[in-house]
Amino acid sequence: MTKFNEFNLSPDILKALDGLGYHEATEVQLQVIPAVLNKEDLVVQSKTGSGKTASYGIPVCEQMDWEENKPQTLILVPTRELAVQIQEELMHIGRFKRLKVVAVYGKSPFKDQAQQLKQKTHIVVGTPGRVLDHLERGTLSLKQMNTLILDEADEMLNMGFFETVEMILKMTPQTRQTLLFSATMPTRIKELANRYLINPSEIKIESESIATDLVEHALYSVRMQEKVRLLQDLLTVETPDRCIVFCSTREAVEALYQGLKAKGYPTNRLHGGMEQKDRLEVMRNFKMGQFAFLIATDVAARGIDISDLTHVFNFDLPDDQEAFVHRIGRVGRAGKVGKAITFVTPFETKLLDQIQKYIGFELPEMERPVATEVEKAKAAFLTKLKQRPKASLQKRADTNNEIMKIYLNGGKKKKLRAIDFVGTILSIEGIEKEDIGIIDIKDQVTYIDILNGKGWTVIDGLKTKTIKGKKIKAQKAYN
Ligand code: ADP
Ligand code: MG
Repeated sequence: MTKFNEFNLSPDILKALDGLGYHEATEVQLQVIPAVLNKEDLVVQSKTGSGKTASYGIPVCEQMDWEENKPQTLILVPTRELAVQIQEELMHIGRFKRLKVVAVYGKSPFKDQAQQLKQKTHIVVGTPGRVLDHLERGTLSLKQMNTLILDEADEMLNMGFFETVEMILKMTPQTRQTLLFSATMPTRIKELANRYLINPSEIKIESESIATDLVEHALYSVRMQEKVRLLQDLLTVETPDRCIVFCSTREAVEALYQGLKAKGYPTNRLHGGMEQKDRLEVMRNFKMGQFAFLIATDVAARGIDISDLTHVFNFDLPDDQEAFVHRIGRVGRAGKVGKAITFVTPFETKLLDQIQKYIGFELPEMERPVATEVEKAKAAFLTKLKQRPKASLQKRADTNNEIMKIYLNGGKKKKLRAIDFVGTILSIEGIEKEDIGIIDIKDQVTYIDILNGKGWTVIDGLKTKTIKGKKIKAQKAYN
């Protein structure tokens, strides 16, 4: 058990970790944090759910130079959802250092992202295609970039992003530190590491692919046309708090989703054919516990971290063994026990064999629940459906408590600059420099994070003050 204060981290970071409920470092964090602080290049192989984000997030935030306006760290990830998730986690870790983390990804307005990047930005996290776009159009500068991170490198390879990743690598300063994270290590990833990393230390966290003690497996042989029935029976018997049901195609996801929804299940779906903003909204609602059963394709659910996920269903077997490992990685996270239920049709025995060989054990085959068993469980299941599952964002809320985002009705158009806001806010009694967080100035409005529980003091204080001679209204921002 290693506590974070043994790493010689600054109080701002320790306080943020405490707020996140991170008290002891995970195995991968134990090894990665000191190596990153030591400026080493790294190749890290570790299963999903082991805490990789914070393993690089903590040292990166620790070493960030607040004064510098241009981005110092660039993180490349395979999906937009992951970009958003990592952006949020890093923002929480860097909260008290007032670090600005910007996420950039496709299918979302380029202009808005460019606008954000124009302001002081410490960390950029994005998908390769959109990052390259910004680089080519000159809206993202790599001049001050000293750390490049490739997260979920194997998935970026699977999705055909490799050429783009290489182009970006070639554009970054040679003096950079490079960290590569991957759940698996195919040859092409090793080659990439050899070519672009300098004497990387290799960190491999040995946890026999999927730790069976954290994930309980169950296999059901079922014919295609009986899958939906079996799923409904198992949902009833198992009554998962929150689960993901994986299907192999968008069409299969839609079909299952429409079917369950029509039957009144609290469900929603996620697949690559949906609009970006809908995908993000579905993820957010799922995390907030607004519905319990998420039907998804592999791509959409990649790397997504949801605490309290009790079950994963392989409604369709994945195409390959690595996808299986990633799906299972959605449960049994951060030391919690989860259950993985896999359906296999009579035509899929070969694929199943491959998977079992890869994970190194046989999935225990179970008898399907009999009708009386399902009947008996029904009442409890229905009661549970009526209660909305509680939000899993508690730990986030704790850190947010001390921070209030305030909204001011003036921005660039009124020629207001950060220094003008800071000057006025500091003239309020009881407010110090440390209480002012990220300042985000838009054309017409400005958002400012006020730290240490002093949000209302600032809002009240501003009522009797002017900013650059102008009367500006302040209120609590609700986003
Ligand atoms: P990975 O990238 O390895 O798949 P994540 O970085 O997404 O894993 O972390 C998995 C979960 O563990 C997240 O919910 C994260 O908030 C949590 N977590 C990370 N580090 C710690 C820690 N030291 N203590 C408790 N929870 C942690
Ligand atoms: Mg991760």
